[in-house]
Amino acid sequence: MTATAGDRATVEAVGEGQPLLELRDVGASYGPYEALFGVSLTVRAGRALALVGANGAGKSTVARVVSGLVPTTRGTIRFDGRDITGRPAYEIARMGLSQLTEGRSVFASLTVEENLTLSFRRALGRRGVPDALARAYAAFPRLGERRTQSAGTLSGGEQRMLALARVLVLKQRLLVVDELSFGLAPVVVDEVYTALERVLASGTSLLLIEQHVDRALVLADDVAVLSKGRVVYDGPVAGVEGRLGDLVLGRPDPGEG
Ligand code: ATP
Repeated sequence: MTATAGDRATVEAVGEGQPLLELRDVGASYGPYEALFGVSLTVRAGRALALVGANGAGKSTVARVVSGLVPTTRGTIRFDGRDITGRPAYEIARMGLSQLTEGRSVFASLTVEENLTLSFRRALGRRGVPDALARAYAAFPRLGERRTQSAGTLSGGEQRMLALARVLVLKQRLLVVDELSFGLAPVVVDEVYTALERVLASGTSLLLIEQHVDRALVLADDVAVLSKGRVVYDGPVAGVEGRLGDLVLGRPDPGEG
C-alpha cells in the first residue's frame, strides 16, 4: 500500500515542540569499524536541530541510520511516535522523513518537471500533480522558467531548490539535510538557507548537518555536538555559546576539574 500525504496527516502523533525524532543509545558500524557509540539526540516537532562535529565524527552516519540506509547495532530510533529501528528506508521515507544530500537528490537525465512529476505522482496520485506543480513553481519561480531543462544541467543551487521544492510541497514531517551547501558560492548558500527557512516555517522539522556551523546555528533551536561517534552536547543553542569550537575539537572545558 502506498502512503499518501493524507495518510501522513492522520499519523501525526507528535505535536509542536514534542520529540519528533529520538535516538536512544544508538550504535552503528561499517563492518568491523564502529562509527557510533551510543548516540542519543532529539529533534523536536517544528524545530531545527544542528548536528555538528569534526570531520569523521559520525554526522553522516547519524543521517544514514535515521533514514534506514545504515543499520543500527544497538539502541532505538523513534519517529513521529513510532519505533522505526530496523525499518527499511522506503518505509521510513513514506512516513514523511526525507533526506537530502549534496549531489544525489535529483535525477540528472530527467527535466525539472519530470523530476517533480515523479515525486508528486508517487505521493499524491496523478490527479494531485497539476496543483502540486503550480505550488512548486510559485514557491520557486526559477524552476518554472527551467521546467524543460534537464536537472543535470541546472546549477548546484538550482538543483538544491528542485530537491527542496519537493519537500516543501509534500509537507514532509522531517528533513535530514547532509551538507546541502557543500561546494556552493556564499550567495547561493544564502538562497539555500532562505529555502530551508521556508521549509521550516511550513512545519517541517530539520536535522541540519552543515559545514557552515554559523549558518546552521542561525536557523537551529537546538544543537547536538558529535565527537568521535559520541554526543558531547545535546540541548539549546544558547547552552553552548562560546564553547562550541572547544566541544567540536574535543578540547577540555576550562571550567572543569
Ligand atoms: P565529514 O564531516 O568528514 O563528512 P562525518 O562526521 O559525516 O564526517 P561519517 O561520514 O559519518 O563522519 O564517518 C564516521 C566514520 O565512519 C569515519 O571514520 C569514516 O571513515 C567511517 N565511515 C564512513 N562511511 C564508511 C564506509 N562506508 N565504510 C567504512 N567506514 C566508513
